[in-house]
Amino acid sequence: RAKQDGGNACHVFHPEMEAALQDRLWMEAELRQAIQDEQMRLYYQPQVDAEGNIIGAETLIRWQHPEHGMISPGAFIPLAEETGLIVPIGQWVLAKACERLAHWATDPALAHLQLSVNVSVHQFQQHDFVAQVLATLADHHAPPERLTLELTESLLLANVEGVIEKMMQLKHHGVSFSLDDFGTGYSSLAYLKRLPFNALKIDVSFVRDVLVEANDAAIVKTIIALADSLQLKTVAEGVETLPQRDFLAQLGCHHYQGYYYGRPGPVEAFETLVTPPPAQRTTLR
Ligand code: C2E
Ligand code: MG
Ligand code: MG
Ligand code: MG
Repeated sequence: RAKQDGGNACHVFHPEMEAALQDRLWMEAELRQAIQDEQMRLYYQPQVDAEGNIIGAETLIRWQHPEHGMISPGAFIPLAEETGLIVPIGQWVLAKACERLAHWATDPALAHLQLSVNVSVHQFQQHDFVAQVLATLADHHAPPERLTLELTESLLLANVEGVIEKMMQLKHHGVSFSLDDFGTGYSSLAYLKRLPFNALKIDVSFVRDVLVEANDAAIVKTIIALADSLQLKTVAEGVETLPQRDFLAQLGCHHYQGYYYGRPGPVEAFETLVTPPPAQRTTLR
């Protein structure tokens, strides 16, 4: 506890601050342990095209804590970013994804699938990020054309030229890019046309109330029109109902992801969805 009497003392630690700090330190130590002990899990959520065919998946990390159970990324990715632990975590995610892509490449029923991986700003900003991605693809014999990296607008706050350069290098090797959570950040339209993205992901927060909020409908409509004019695909996130999907389809949205099609789950569940045993074969729509 900082001294609360004398003169100029201004660092008064409140009990809540102490608790928060303890929590952070605890969490950081646990996170380091988690990486060592391989407590992370990679979940897969299907992405479908306008006909309802599964075209791929997004990988979403989960932390299977031995005592606290499954922890969602929202609870630990921000701290992992701050502490730099996102770098080893991100490398693990990429390795897992490449391992899976290599496996899919050997199976004609799965070889067409695209795998989207979330990349943090801190991770992307590593000076050797491009080399890391290419080495991981090569180590696993994974096809670069099947890998999509999801970046967020926060990446564009600094050094856009550097970002373009890295994206171009990876694109040259066949890797694709999606702009995640589009519309929630700060991206400038001037940058957007210079960045080699393949798709814009319409954020869950706009899709959620798209049928009841005129403003959200207007935003979604604008995003799709913008993407069309820049020749980018659109992927709607957080599609939970058929009416939402139909509304988005009417606006010309290309791809869909959300609980309506499938929740994030273990890779086996995703693969079963793509190639169900003959008796339960149906099309999603
Ligand atoms: P994101 O990349 O925008 O992922 C979409 C989030 O929406 C996921 O949350 C997903 O589970 C959720 N979602 C999918 N469909 C629906 C739906 O129909 N309704 C609703 N309400 N939500 C839906 P999740 O898995 O909790 O991940 C949250 C965020 O954590 C991700 O947002 C991403 O920014 C980050 N994240 C996840 N995995 C990784 C990773 O491997 N690396 C990094 N750097 N970040 C990750
Ligand atoms: Mg994402
Ligand atoms: Mg998103
Ligand atoms: Mg998000």
